[in-house]
Amino acid sequence: MTMQRCASCGEEIDENEMFMSVDGQVCGDCHIESETDSPFLGLGTLAWAGLIVGLVPFCLNITSTSTTNGQITEYTNYPALAGGPVAILVSLALGYQATQASDGALQKGGVAALVLVLGVVHILRGIGMFV
Ligand SMILES: [Zn+2]
Repeated sequence: MTMQRCASCGEEIDENEMFMSVDGQVCGDCHIESETDSPFLGLGTLAWAGLIVGLVPFCLNITSTSTTNGQITEYTNYPALAGGPVAILVSLALGYQATQASDGALQKGGVAALVLVLGVVHILRGIGMFV
């Protein structure tokens, strides 16, 4: 067993219980602290997934348009139509997670609200409301 000194608090612990962090090798306690210290990374996977689902359809434009006498009669933006409901579902899950969270509830709630708005915007884009 090799003992290592925590780069943050200086405590000597087994190197198998060390975590890699931006400060170097730190103990479990300091690792948890540094995670909750950073509100952005502390958002969690679901929040990032929501942001990605909410933003990616803006970059993809696969559309189908039907026109009659130069008037658009039918318009579908597939990535937006697919991403919208997913974004709304993720935002609902995230909103629930925010109500249960002891840490970062405000950030999670904020992201949930943002992703919800993005989801609604995508559905409206998907059916051609902004064409
Ligand atoms: Zn430590």
